[in-house]
Amino acid sequence: MAGKDQDMSSRATSHEPPATSCALCAQPGGEVMWDDGFARVVLVGDADHPGFCRVILNAHEKEMSGLSDAHRLRLMEVVFAVERALRELLAPEKINLASFGNVVPHLHWHVIPRFPDDPHFPNSVWSARVREGPRPLPAGFNRSLRQRLGDLLGPRP
Ligand SMILES: [Zn+2]
Repeated sequence: MAGKDQDMSSRATSHEPPATSCALCAQPGGEVMWDDGFARVVLVGDADHPGFCRVILNAHEKEMSGLSDAHRLRLMEVVFAVERALRELLAPEKINLASFGNVVPHLHWHVIPRFPDDPHFPNSVWSARVREGPRPLPAGFNRSLRQRLGDLLGPRP
């Protein structure tokens, strides 16, 4: 009986938190560049990496394997469109893609343009800084990114 109670209790604590306690359910998470109701693209506003974008699933889901095949493919289509738009607009040395969700367990992908002179290159943006000074974004970047994402993914409904 005690074993059964323990099992019930551990299952109860593994439930998803209510959406109201989740930062990415409660807030956009950055300046919205594109949103089709299923997912959104935000410009994070990272001082060291001004082109840093996140692709955020609008629904509260924790893992890629929790999505249907169609939703998983659509989410990655958005990630790759952001990658493509950032390559076209900024010509970075490399795009970094990452998904962790340990702190905020709500599906989101980091899409980060990297440059040889950025504050962390060639290490990850979460490592110690190795030099000063971010590379500023070109004039009109936000407008261009919105336009390009609309071209690649369809306009906001
Ligand atoms: Zn959430």
